[in-house]
Amino acid sequence: MGEFDLIARYFKRPPTQPHVDLGVGDDCALLRPAAGMQLAVTSDMLVEGRHFLSTVDPFRLGHKSLAVNLSDLAACGARPLAFTLALSLPRADESWLESFSAGLLSLADQYGCELVGGDTTRGPLNICITAFGEVPRGQALLRSGAQAGDDIYVSGTTGDARLALEVFRGSLSLPQQVFVQARARLEQPTPRVGLGLALRGIATAAIDISDGLLGDLRHILDASGLGATIHLPSAATLMAASRGLEGTNLTEKELLQFSLAGGDDYELLFTAPAGSHVAVQAAAASGGVRVTHIGTADRLPGVRLIDGEGRIQSGNDASFDHFA
Ligand code: ADP
Ligand code: MG
Repeated sequence: MGEFDLIARYFKRPPTQPHVDLGVGDDCALLRPAAGMQLAVTSDMLVEGRHFLSTVDPFRLGHKSLAVNLSDLAACGARPLAFTLALSLPRADESWLESFSAGLLSLADQYGCELVGGDTTRGPLNICITAFGEVPRGQALLRSGAQAGDDIYVSGTTGDARLALEVFRGSLSLPQQVFVQARARLEQPTPRVGLGLALRGIATAAIDISDGLLGDLRHILDASGLGATIHLPSAATLMAASRGLEGTNLTEKELLQFSLAGGDDYELLFTAPAGSHVAVQAAAASGGVRVTHIGTADRLPGVRLIDGEGRIQSGNDASFDHFA
C-alpha cells in the first residue's frame, strides 16, 4: 500500500462540517470560522516510548492523540473545528491503521472536528496533531486572568491515570476493576470541551491538567502573578478509584500525591470569582462533569497546602519536590 492509498483508505472522508470548505486532498485545507471569531490553534506530539507504550491498543491511541488536543481547545474555551495529522509510521500495518483511524475519527465525529489534512511518512511511530478551534474575539480563557480572591476548581477526577501508569511500570498492583477504570482514564481521556465552552465569561483563567494538578496550577499562578492556598481534604476527594483501593498498600499520602501531581489527567483547572459558585456549578452541569472547589488564589507568592484543621502542611516551592 502506497502513501496515497493509505491516506485515501484511512484518513480521507468527504467533509461534512459547514466550517470546512476544503478537506483532505489538496495542498491546503480551507476553513471558515464564523464572523467575529478568533482561531484557537494547538499542537501536541505523541512519541512511542515517551508518551505511550508500543503495546497500547491502536483504537485508544487514535482517541488519545486527538483528545489531548481537544483538551487544549477546551482549556481556552474554544469550540473544535478541524485538525491535521502528521503521522510517522514504521510500516503500513492495515489492522493497526484501521483501528487507529477508527479511534481517532470517532472522537472527531463526536465533536464535529474534521480531519482536513496532514502528512504521512515512514519512520519511528510518532503522531502529531494540530487542532483548530474558534472562540468569540476576546473571550478565550487564558492562564493569565486569575485575580486574588478567586476560587480554584478542578473538573472530574485526577490521579487515576497515574495509578494505571504505575501498574504498567510494575510498581503497583490494583484490583482488576480499579485497574480497568484507571487504564481507561490513562488511555482514553475525555476532553472537557463542553465545560470549557460553558466557562466562557465565568472562569477568569484556565488550563488543562496534563503534567499534574500542582504543576499546572503553577502555570496559572505564574502567568497571573499570584499564589494560592489549596485545601487538602478537598483535593483528597479527587481520585475516583480511591474507594476501590482497600487492600492495596497505597498510603493516603501517596494517593494525594497522585491526585495532585499524577499527570495525564486532562481535566480543567480554572479560577472564578468568589461569588460565582452557582454559575460554576451550572457550567459543570452543562458540561456533564463534576467540578470540585479545591482552594483560593491569593497575593502571597507560592502555594500553601493546608489540612482540615487549617494547618499548613507544605508552604514553599521546594516542598513541591516530593510531588514530582
Ligand atoms: P503535499 O505533498 O502537498 O504535502 P501530501 O502528498 O503529503 O501533500 O498529502 C496529500 C494530501 O493528503 C494533502 O491534502 C494532505 O493534507 C493529506 N494528508 C497527508 N497525510 C495525511 C494524514 N495522515 N491524514 C490526513 N490527511 C493527510
Ligand atoms: Mg506532504
